Amino acid sequence: MKRLFVFSAFLSVLVLLSNSVQAVDWVSKRTQMIDMHLTPRGIWNPAVLKAMKQVPRHEFVPQHIRKLAYADRPLPIGEGQTISQPYVVAWMSQLLELEKGMKVLEIGTGSGYQAAVLAAMGVKTYSMEIIPNLAREVKIRLKKLGYKVEVRQGDGYYGWNEHAPFDRVIITAAANHVPRPLLDQLKPGGKLILPLGNVRYSQNMTLIEKDSQGKMRTSQHGQVRFVPMVGAAQE
Ligand code: SAH
Repeated sequence: MKRLFVFSAFLSVLVLLSNSVQAVDWVSKRTQMIDMHLTPRGIWNPAVLKAMKQVPRHEFVPQHIRKLAYADRPLPIGEGQTISQPYVVAWMSQLLELEKGMKVLEIGTGSGYQAAVLAAMGVKTYSMEIIPNLAREVKIRLKKLGYKVEVRQGDGYYGWNEHAPFDRVIITAAANHVPRPLLDQLKPGGKLILPLGNVRYSQNMTLIEKDSQGKMRTSQHGQVRFVPMVGAAQE
């Protein structure tokens, strides 16, 4: 009996140890990701770096590919969709020039990783996902991890009128034009970012700034490749 007790105590210690070793491993993997892929490529914004250091990307990818979570690459998340590569998430977050307390609308929740990074930066995050299964799963995931993000299933082309206007809009799927309703739901002085171009091949990371008179200014920041925005964007 006593032996059995000692043995099971020993096993519990082993399990505890291996769990904590694993936890330390994720943290150092995130630090490595930042040092290897983000800082050298021009991510300098302290709030972005802090959020990327905190958010556990391995919780946003399927269990069997967790080991790859901190490589700088997109990964499959089911339903033919992908979680964007860490650099692109950091880059878009930095280009948006976010400030705490801002209201942000994301189109294309996917795994919820980008939304979690936004929430970790202290912005009020609203996110729309068109695929019902992904929307259902991501609501559970974000809640379990403690990220305050409002997720709604639906076609993000039309935005989220009840919560408009937004300080920032981020579209994380490729479109060949900027959805008009999303521009309309942007505050004067607001910014909208999206991969704009040929949805089958490649797009340009495009930032649109709306001035206080409602005039738009567009700048392009480099080639990217995203999964296409579906629904009304393709009509
Ligand atoms: N931001 C996500 C990755 C985006 S992948 C992440 O961090 O994981 C692009 C996502 O956009 C997919 O989940 C896709 O289903 C969704 N999507 C495509 N068209 C959409 C639309 N019209 N409205 C809302 N979501 C859309």
